[in-house]
Amino acid sequence: MQISDCIFCQIAQGKIPSETVYEDDGLIAFKDINPLAPVHLVVIPKIHLRSLNDVTPENEPLIGHLLGVIRRLAEELGVAESGYRVVTNTGTDGGQVVGHLHFHLLGGQALNARIG
Ligand code: IMP
Repeated sequence: MQISDCIFCQIAQGKIPSETVYEDDGLIAFKDINPLAPVHLVVIPKIHLRSLNDVTPENEPLIGHLLGVIRRLAEELGVAESGYRVVTNTGTDGGQVVGHLHFHLLGGQALNARIG
């Protein structure tokens, strides 16, 4: 697959519309198009990394920043106290469908073991 075909790259570049809830130079957070919980965001680095397997030591500050943004979004969306789940499906057996590293933020209800 060409990076130009990557749906999440196109969202990061504003070429495909998304319900963006947060954006900065390095990442973007938007509502999942097929939400599995009342709060379901997808948070991605803007650079194209296929999965967690592609993360190098050079990228680790960006991923740390991304997790900090997820924590703040959970607070702002009112799910920090009740609890939430952060999921990164990785590769085929991990159930990853979109080949651009992304983190699901799920919350707003009691999550059973299968959600995410
Ligand atoms: P994965 O199974 O971890 O790869 O999850 C990919 C997620 O991206 C799924 O939850 C999809 O619903 C979501 N998704 C796919 N395309 C779009 C889109 O265009 N906008 C928002 N979410 C999307």
